[in-house]
Amino acid sequence: MGMKRYDLIVIGGGISGLSLAHYASRAGMKTLLAEKEGQAGGCLRTMRKPGDFWLELGAHTCYNSYGNLIGIIEDSGAKERLIPREKVPFMMFVDGKVKSIPSQLDFLEMACSGPRIFTLSKSGRTVASYYSKIVGKKNYEKVIGPALSAVPSQRADDFPAEMLFKKRKRRKDVIRKFTLEGGLQAVADAVSGGDNIELLTGAEASSVERDQSVFRVSFADGREGAADNLALAVPPPAAAGLLGNVLPEAARRLAEIKTVAIESVGVAVRKEAVALPHFAGLIPVRDVFFSAVSRDIIADPMYRGFTFHFAPGIDLAAKMKRIAGVLGTGRFEVSAENRAVLPSPLLGHEKITAAIDGLIKGKRVCITGNYFSGLAIEDCVTRSLSEFRRLTGIS
Ligand SMILES: Cc1cc2nc3c(=O)[nH]c(=O)nc-3n(C[C@H](O)[C@H](O)[C@H](O)COP(=O)(O)OP(=O)(O)OC[C@H]3O[C@@H](n4cnc5c(N)ncnc54)[C@H](O)[C@@H]3O)c2cc1C
Repeated sequence: MGMKRYDLIVIGGGISGLSLAHYASRAGMKTLLAEKEGQAGGCLRTMRKPGDFWLELGAHTCYNSYGNLIGIIEDSGAKERLIPREKVPFMMFVDGKVKSIPSQLDFLEMACSGPRIFTLSKSGRTVASYYSKIVGKKNYEKVIGPALSAVPSQRADDFPAEMLFKKRKRRKDVIRKFTLEGGLQAVADAVSGGDNIELLTGAEASSVERDQSVFRVSFADGREGAADNLALAVPPPAAAGLLGNVLPEAARRLAEIKTVAIESVGVAVRKEAVALPHFAGLIPVRDVFFSAVSRDIIADPMYRGFTFHFAPGIDLAAKMKRIAGVLGTGRFEVSAENRAVLPSPLLGHEKITAAIDGLIKGKRVCITGNYFSGLAIEDCVTRSLSEFRRLTGIS
């Protein structure tokens, strides 16, 4: 049996792999996009039930500063599906009660610490050391620390402060905070259907070999593919495992990057079953979940939906019990689980990625993902664009 030959094989069908495949396919490259799960999207994962109700199990918000992502959405013909998120607040969950964020802040402490924002540099500082200086220690522990941990769904204290938020140019012609009709997984559906892209699902890459100038990828189910160029768009431990035979030094550096699993459970409930006020998300203080994100941002006539993001190691029954406890009802119409892997970067992280960039320079191997410039969807697309340009010389 002959092995199918491509210009590019992209391993990993999250937004990093999707966007790289998109750029390559538009340049006329015959591209195989291999994803181990049953659908593309990775962290873009939408539960689509009951009926036509939908709920994000992973990423939920895009901004008009996501210029490269918006470009891809436009190219894929999905721009008219952009819809605005209603203005509902993020709230705290303290001692079993939903409270506003301002009600939890100490404004005197804030006023005393705040001016440091003008002089203190984020560079070389962790999230805890930077933000506790500009909001005050108590405010950090009670409010800002938990809020910042809700962003990457894990304890963010030791993250490099520079990695969490980025200033980007806004596109004024686009809705400021948006999602897509049917949820963000619609982006994955639109992009993976592009010309020149062959999407292979249920395809877990298990090894990569280089045979002269050709990369041969083997999948766990025995399928194989060959290509002139290779792109890895999987979490760093998986990328390290796959690169071992091809670029062992880069694989060694990738293996240094720590990751954590985020276990998410989404539930849909009848509107009348929940008494809580409408909120975009809940930020708990010292709890078994890092955040709960709701569908209240696009209210539905029948249902409300909530996705709780947990640390790994809690069994499903315990998760369900906690969700019922917070919502005040266990009468779920449907529920769904999702598991994501996110990087857990430490100070000095950028030295590892700079070394990786040095090691792949001049090679026909691209490495993309949410552990280069940042975790946000736009950071992934931006990384993929720069890898595409490096590989092809097309700008
Ligand atoms: C709960 C949550 C909420 C978030 N909210 C937001 C948000 O609102 N806005 C925002 O901008 N960002 C958000 N993020 C961050 C952002 O969604 C992610 O950083 C980004 O989507 C990651 O994309 P990726 O393609 O790099 O990785 P992933 O999405 O993890 O994709 C990697 C893919 O590779 C596949 N894979 C792994 N190993 C193999 C293998 N051996 N062979 C084949 N395939 C493999 C995986 O199945 C996966 O589909 C959120 C993340 C999480 C987890």
